[in-house]
Amino acid sequence: MTITPTHAMGARHPALADTAQAVFWTDRPGAPDPEPPLTRPARADLVVIGGGLTGLWTAICAKDEDPSRDVVLVEASDIAFGGSGRNGGFISASLTHGVAHGQAVWPSEMPSLLRLGRENLQQIADFVAAEGIDADLRLVGKTAVATSVHARDQLPAMLEQHLRWGEDAELLDADAVRADVHSPTYLGGLRVRSGGGLMDPARLCWGLKAAALRRGVRIHEGTAVTGIAVSGPAVVVRTPMAEIRADRVALATNGFEPLLRRLRWRVLPIFDHVLVTEPLTSAQLSSIGWQDGQGLTDVGNQFHYYRRTADDRILWGGYDAIYYRGNRTESWREDRPESHALLADQFFATFPQLEGLHFTHKWAGIIDSTSRFTPVIGTAMKGRIAYSVGYTGLGTAASRFGALTMLDLLAGRRSERTELAMVRRKPVPFPPEPLRYPLIQFTRARLADEDRTGRRGLWLRTLDRFGLGFNS
Ligand SMILES: Cc1cc2nc3c(=O)[nH]c(=O)nc-3n(C[C@H](O)[C@H](O)[C@H](O)COP(=O)(O)OP(=O)(O)OC[C@H]3O[C@@H](n4cnc5c(N)ncnc54)[C@H](O)[C@@H]3O)c2cc1C
Repeated sequence: MTITPTHAMGARHPALADTAQAVFWTDRPGAPDPEPPLTRPARADLVVIGGGLTGLWTAICAKDEDPSRDVVLVEASDIAFGGSGRNGGFISASLTHGVAHGQAVWPSEMPSLLRLGRENLQQIADFVAAEGIDADLRLVGKTAVATSVHARDQLPAMLEQHLRWGEDAELLDADAVRADVHSPTYLGGLRVRSGGGLMDPARLCWGLKAAALRRGVRIHEGTAVTGIAVSGPAVVVRTPMAEIRADRVALATNGFEPLLRRLRWRVLPIFDHVLVTEPLTSAQLSSIGWQDGQGLTDVGNQFHYYRRTADDRILWGGYDAIYYRGNRTESWREDRPESHALLADQFFATFPQLEGLHFTHKWAGIIDSTSRFTPVIGTAMKGRIAYSVGYTGLGTAASRFGALTMLDLLAGRRSERTELAMVRRKPVPFPPEPLRYPLIQFTRARLADEDRTGRRGLWLRTLDRFGLGFNS
């Protein structure tokens, strides 16, 4: 979407005047009490590092595999502090960052990848129902909307890919898509009714935390791991006040400072920005339609994702994917006024009938991007440590697949998951600084060029040839 930023380059957007710098999902009642930090030396069969969806699923599935296993989960901040508590709440069966990317990179494995992804999503839905987790999980699919002529022209090929891989998809012309969701910017759309939906990220994490505790997982929040090392038969996990000696360690730290050096080469932390509006009145709601309440994204490299919440707000995020030189991830970077103002401008261009609405929350979160848009899953220290990081903005369901694959690897077990090329072959590393930053900026500029002109330039076509890229 090409929108002239009227407020982005300086003045604050009026709709952002009283907006809290806080994550809407976790800034609500219902957060569980934090579990105490680790203060005494401990011992465990498995230590899970990171209390997001990957870590929580790893701990739960490890206990479900073997209830006698002693599992400890340590989280630097609170459960759901990272991407898992601050995402858009879109949940997708795809393990390949969409069918088009899967078809381009792993064509022969697509049938297995699709089946594994669909089973994974179904098992998440079954678990949420069985455990009574109030995660507002609704498998309502999504609509991709085109807001430029060249984006609209891509829709038939997207439809063909979705149908080829068995998705329930339908092409919408401008009238049909606008009749569904009332935005004057829409020129066409692809309504996909299968393969995913929406959920409430914080409630999902909080429910999984309760499920882990019920299974006997010991959780320590406010406990940052400062190092891991092999010592004889054990792996020693160091934290500020005490050490844990473990047989096995699962690393689920997403795009945060990695505890294994090798991951610095494979994972790029990208800041992604989000706004949430105040609740809409019934008149405002009827002015936008959107009766199915499905998630929406626009077609393009720099895309928005947006959705309604259970209490009639709109969450609006994406577009600006910011990389800071040297993989910096300090939390003060989450407040980036120009990104939030740009998002606000784009929101009102999409829904001009909502002019006057205010945003109550703004935040940013770290997306762990790999050059292949899918996670890097592997082992270190002679198979005693496993890692699964790099979901590149599509990890709310894939995190469970990453967890199960880590458990296979830590058990030394060959499975359909561990035999996938996606697991056996690692994504191409990013170049080191000082090359990394200018290269990312150059690639971002070429992606923006394509969004503007519809032409994929030489640089992006070269990256495509090697299955490489930059995404959020
Ligand atoms: C703004 C935003 C929007 C997104 N939208 C979507 C979406 O709509 N759909 C989708 O599928 N995906 C989305 N994603 C991506 C998705 O949220 C992630 O892929 C997923 O949550 C990853 O889960 P995780 O557990 O691997 O990482 P995280 O949730 O980030 O968890 C990692 C945890 O590790 C902890 N940690 C880090 N270092 C240490 C240490 N040294 N010691 C102890 N703990 C440590 C962190 O505090 C953090 O809690 C989005 C991400 C962001 C940021």
